Amino acid sequence: MNQMSRLNSYGLMVDAHSDTISRSRELGLDFCLRQTSTHADLPRLLEAGMGVQVLALFAPPNMDKSVTLYKILSYLEYTWQCVDRDQRLRIVKTRDDLPSHHTDDEKLRAVIAVEGGDCLGGELWVLRLLFRLGVRLLTLTWSNRNQLADGIWEKDSKGGLTRFGREVIKEMEKLGMIIDVSHIAPAGFWDVAEVAVGPFIASHSNAQALCGHPRNLSDEQIRCIADAGGVIGVNFCGPHLTSVGQSSMDDVIAHVEHFWKVAGDDHVGLGTDYDGIDGTPIGLEDVTRIPELIGRLELRGHSGQRLEKFVGGNFLRVFRDTLPS
Ligand SMILES: [Zn+2]
Repeated sequence: MNQMSRLNSYGLMVDAHSDTISRSRELGLDFCLRQTSTHADLPRLLEAGMGVQVLALFAPPNMDKSVTLYKILSYLEYTWQCVDRDQRLRIVKTRDDLPSHHTDDEKLRAVIAVEGGDCLGGELWVLRLLFRLGVRLLTLTWSNRNQLADGIWEKDSKGGLTRFGREVIKEMEKLGMIIDVSHIAPAGFWDVAEVAVGPFIASHSNAQALCGHPRNLSDEQIRCIADAGGVIGVNFCGPHLTSVGQSSMDDVIAHVEHFWKVAGDDHVGLGTDYDGIDGTPIGLEDVTRIPELIGRLELRGHSGQRLEKFVGGNFLRVFRDTLPS
């Protein structure tokens, strides 16, 4: 069996975070065409066997929230333009838009996400409008403080969820949006765990136990996400994988195996952060290398059932349970 057909036996592949849309738009590149200066694009995602890609729209923090919203809307419009021009790209709006099993239809399903609630400007109607425009996942904060909560840069301030942040979570659960806690400071993390009724995810995060970077999750946080039925997507960001030297595929494997040890098989997936990171691990230079990672995990003796959940099964479960019908 070749690598791709073997991968197909693991079902639909899901990556819970990439910044490829924002980056492509900023560089003036066409996401639908093969590129060399990004980590991913539509042809390479299909080549990698990706079934569902979360496309995160990210605008750097700005004091003027309308500037941030303006940027996010431009990325959103760019995404819909790609959908109009290329039949291979489909936007997931309802749980029925997710195929129930692996298909060879050569289509990429995309879940549109916004990274950082800054663009809401403290208004719930903006959240509802973004939902109408196709957004189905919100990373509550980036690393800065916003109107919802403090990001990880503010971890010493101990600022958790604001009143608005709590309203946003309630509204997201009502609409059927996926709650993402990557980047949030610990106080806000524990508030989300208390306020959220359903599962929540950390779309692109790693383990504190292996690398002390403040962006990484403590074992207590990892267990909490698992207890809530959520999933953690392993991030390929070099400085989050190791604090010494250049990162490699081995570091990614170490974080995945740590997550399995602490959270169990049902709560770990992929959250590459491609095009949102500067240094990629050796061996995972772009999205087409992911099958090699799966192959390495196989060689280490991990069961097919465990790998099926990791490759996409776990995120699919949360997406199906959360998205509207
Ligand atoms: Zn991020």
